[in-house]
Amino acid sequence: MGLRQGCPLSATLFGLFIDGLHHYLETVVPGAGVQIQHLRLRELVYADDICLMASSPGQLQALIDALASYCATLHLEISVPKTKVMIVANVSTVLVAFTCNGNPVEQVTSFRYLGLHFHQSGAISHVIQPIKAKAGGSWATVQRRHSLLQCGKAINLHLRLLHAILVPVMQYGCEVWGMHSPRVAIANGARSGLQHLYDHYLRTICDLRPSTPRKMMLAELGLLPLQVFWWRQALQFWNSLAALLAGSFYHTVCLDNLTDAFQGGACNMASSLASCLQSVGFDMPRVCDVVPLLDVDGVVESLTVTLQATGDSASFCPRQAPTQGVVSCTYEQWFRPYSARRRYCQLPVSGRRMQRFLQFRLGCHGLPVATGRLAGPGHVDRAQRVCSCCHSGAVGDERHLVFECVALAPLRVRYASLFTNDTNTMRSFFAQRDHLGVFHYVMDCLDLMHI
Ligand SMILES: [Zn+2]
Repeated sequence: MGLRQGCPLSATLFGLFIDGLHHYLETVVPGAGVQIQHLRLRELVYADDICLMASSPGQLQALIDALASYCATLHLEISVPKTKVMIVANVSTVLVAFTCNGNPVEQVTSFRYLGLHFHQSGAISHVIQPIKAKAGGSWATVQRRHSLLQCGKAINLHLRLLHAILVPVMQYGCEVWGMHSPRVAIANGARSGLQHLYDHYLRTICDLRPSTPRKMMLAELGLLPLQVFWWRQALQFWNSLAALLAGSFYHTVCLDNLTDAFQGGACNMASSLASCLQSVGFDMPRVCDVVPLLDVDGVVESLTVTLQATGDSASFCPRQAPTQGVVSCTYEQWFRPYSARRRYCQLPVSGRRMQRFLQFRLGCHGLPVATGRLAGPGHVDRAQRVCSCCHSGAVGDERHLVFECVALAPLRVRYASLFTNDTNTMRSFFAQRDHLGVFHYVMDCLDLMHI
């Protein structure tokens, strides 16, 4: 036909030619394929990719031969170098010689299909590793382009770029791998690797220390862990299958999956969903004759609460908190926003100044209380981390800066409107309406203290 590479017409043309393949395979090799309830699945066809499936080497060879003869009658050519065989099994498999039109077909252990790297073991770490690499490449490109355009370090812009360009990469195909886990520990490790990468980018954008706890950072930026998105997508995907008419292909695949999970004890999509749901207090009905509709919002809400739980950190006063976890405790007690709607990171201020302000709120600043903590293994005792500006002998922490340090008293007079009876605690002070006023007051304090 002579179409250009990538021409939108190519998929339509291919569809017209390949339309008869299903009927042809059904007629020529009726016994080949994978049995799913009363259906037999032989091929998956998408765009110009064809995936043939069989439960034995002989059947697969018969399918390849049938495909080759079908293509030959239509003068279509199969690209043998691009054709691969993958044997899906948990145990090591022997090499079997397959041919296509007399040419040997290479046998591989993993194969990229529709942008996802599937491995013969079914392990999802092989799917996620390339996604991580791709995300890293995309972010490097965005950073390069951004520095070429010289548009400054605005945190808001960086966060928007991250979510418009990078997060879709990190979610690609999560309907398949977001909750599915044939080997739970390895799967969770792979998934958390992706979350760590996301955290790393957020910390870089905000110029935070690697030790800044994720929960605090996400709360400050008004973001959710990626797992919440993965679960929502996977659950919605499941529900979209459950909503299909009984007897339709994908609905039947779901029923088969449920039967394998609950009667055969298989580790598959349905059993993964059931154990994920159980981990957040939801029971998936263990039925095999109907595909259950899941409560997406309820499950996601429950997961979010579990992931955001702050444990003990809200039960201590930051000044008396044990060293372990004092940073989280300080954030919970003094800084965590009351409302999810108004956030300091959205203020229209320069990127560098916002970074310094976020560092102050997230315990990554140069106040004596923090520098003493970082002084090394024999770190300075907390009582010794005194303010160097006022010589009062008080510990130089965030509260001392905001309310107590006499060296900063002239600034409090200048910003008198910020100090009222309703704003005399750390949380109420930072929650008051005049976010910009609070921002400038804190930045002036830090400037005066040369921090
Ligand atoms: Zn002081």
